Amino acid sequence: MQNQLLIYNTLTRTKEKFIPINKGMIGMYVCGPTVYNDVHLGNCRTFISFDMIYRYLLYLGFKVRYVRNITDAGHLEGDRDEGDDKFSKKAKLEQLEPMEIVQKYTLGFHDVMHQFNTLPPNIEPTATGHICEQIEMVKQILDNGYAYEADGTVYFDVEKYNKEFPYGQLTNRNLEDLIANTRELHGQDEKHGRLDFALWIKAKPEHLMRWPSPWGWGFPGWHIECSAMSSKYLGDAFDIHGGGMDLQATHHTNEIAQSQACNHKAPVNYWMHTNMLTVNGVRMSKSAGNGFLPGELFTGDHPLLEKGYSPMAVRFFMMQTHYRSTLDFSNDALHASEKGYARMMAALKTLQNIKPSSQSTSDIKELEKNCYDAMNDDFNTPVLIAHLFEAVRIINSANDNKETLTESDLALLKKLMQDFVVDVLGLKDETIHASGDKVLEGVMKIVLDIRKEIKARKDFAASDRLRDELNKLNITVKDTKETAVWSIEQ
Ligand code: AMP
Ligand code: ZN
Repeated sequence: MQNQLLIYNTLTRTKEKFIPINKGMIGMYVCGPTVYNDVHLGNCRTFISFDMIYRYLLYLGFKVRYVRNITDAGHLEGDRDEGDDKFSKKAKLEQLEPMEIVQKYTLGFHDVMHQFNTLPPNIEPTATGHICEQIEMVKQILDNGYAYEADGTVYFDVEKYNKEFPYGQLTNRNLEDLIANTRELHGQDEKHGRLDFALWIKAKPEHLMRWPSPWGWGFPGWHIECSAMSSKYLGDAFDIHGGGMDLQATHHTNEIAQSQACNHKAPVNYWMHTNMLTVNGVRMSKSAGNGFLPGELFTGDHPLLEKGYSPMAVRFFMMQTHYRSTLDFSNDALHASEKGYARMMAALKTLQNIKPSSQSTSDIKELEKNCYDAMNDDFNTPVLIAHLFEAVRIINSANDNKETLTESDLALLKKLMQDFVVDVLGLKDETIHASGDKVLEGVMKIVLDIRKEIKARKDFAASDRLRDELNKLNITVKDTKETAVWSIEQ
C-alpha cells in the first residue's frame, strides 16, 4: 500500500509519489514553536497535522526520524531582522531569566501536545543548544561566498545567490517582484540588498541572550537554526520538511538558500505546509490577539466559546478538514465534532459486542481499501472520516441485527477501526485514559454501567445523584447520546 502514497509538494506545486531517499529511515523535520509565549490553537493545528502525517508514515511501516525543534533564541519582532528580541522582552516583563521563560513555555507546550495525544518527536533540538553548529554553518556560507559581514552582523547575499539558484522558487516568485515588494534600504543600512537577511546578529548592549563568535558577541538569525539542526540530524538532503504556510515566503525560503549555499545541495525533497486556523476568516495569531489557548478551549473560559470542548473533540474537529485547507473556528463546528467523536468512540465499544454470522452484508475489504486510498491521497483525513462513518453505520446496524458480518470481516473491521481511528487519526478514548489508574478505570466502568441501568429504569433522580456525588470528588460525567464519558478535573 505504501508505494501509492502521494504527497503534495509545495516546491513543485503538484502531488508527487512519495519516494524516500533511504527506505531504512525517513527524515522529517517540522519547525517547532517559539517558546516566549503559550502556543495557541493555530500553532496546535500545525503540530497535530504533522502528528497525523508522522503516524500514517509509521503505520505504513516506514522508520521515521522525526525532528521538531524548539526556537528559544534569535527571534526578533520584525520579519526582517528588526525590533526587540522576543525572549529578552518577555523576560524583562515577567522579571525572569530568558531561560526561565524558555523552560516555562516549553513545559506548557509539552503538556498541550500530550493532551492532544501527539507522539513526541524523536529529537527535539533547541536553538540555544546548537550555537556552535550555527556558527560553523555561517562560516561555511561566508567561505563559499554567499554572505558578508558588516560591523559584527553577517548577512546572506540574496542577489548573488539568485544568480545561481532561484531564491523565490518555494513561493513561485521571481527576484524582481520580491524586491519591488520590499521596502527600500535607508542610507544608514548595512545591508547590500533589500532582501538580504541576517545569519548572525551583533548583540546590542541590552541584549540578554548572546554568545561569542568570530564576529564578536551576538546571536543567530532565526532561519539558520533550522538549517543547522536539520542537516545535523537528518543529513544535507532529507525527505520531508514541514511547517505552517506562513513560513513559506521567508523562513523556509531562507532555509533553502542557506542550506544550498552551505552544502551545495537542495536540502529537502518534499516541502509540506499546513493551512491556517482562522477565527471569523482572520488567521489566528499571537499578534492579532485572536488566539485562544488550548486550556481556554478545554474549560470554555473565553468570550468566543459557548462551552468547553475536550482535547479529543478538538483533535477530531481538526482532522475533519484537510491539512491544506483553511479551518475556521466556530462553536457549531466544534459541537458537531464533539458528537462525531462520541459516535466514533461508542462504535469502537459496540464493535466488541457484535457476534459473527455466516454471511456478510457489507464489503469490508472495499471499505479498508477506501480508507487507504483516502490517506494515500495526500493524507485526506476528511474523506477517511467519511469512510469511517460508513464503518460506524455498519457496526450500529450489525449491533441491531440489521446487518451481518462473517468472523473474518468482523476481525477486519476491528483492525480497520483500531488502525485508522486510534493509530492514524490519534483519537483515544478519553474515558479510558482519563486517569491512567487501571483500578479507578475499572471502578468507573462499573459505576457508569450501573448508572446506565438506573437511567434505563428511568430513575433519573438516582442517576443525577450519582453524577453529583462523583462531581464532589472532581469527577465530571458527561452524557452523550450513546454513552457517558468521565474525566478528572484538575
Ligand atoms: P511560531 O511559534 O509562531 O513559530 O509558530 C509555530 C508553528 O505554528 C509554525 O509552523 C506556524 O506556521 C504555525 N502557525 C502559526 N499560526 C497558525 C495558524 N493560525 N494556523 C495554523 N498554524 C499556525
Ligand atoms: Zn524552522
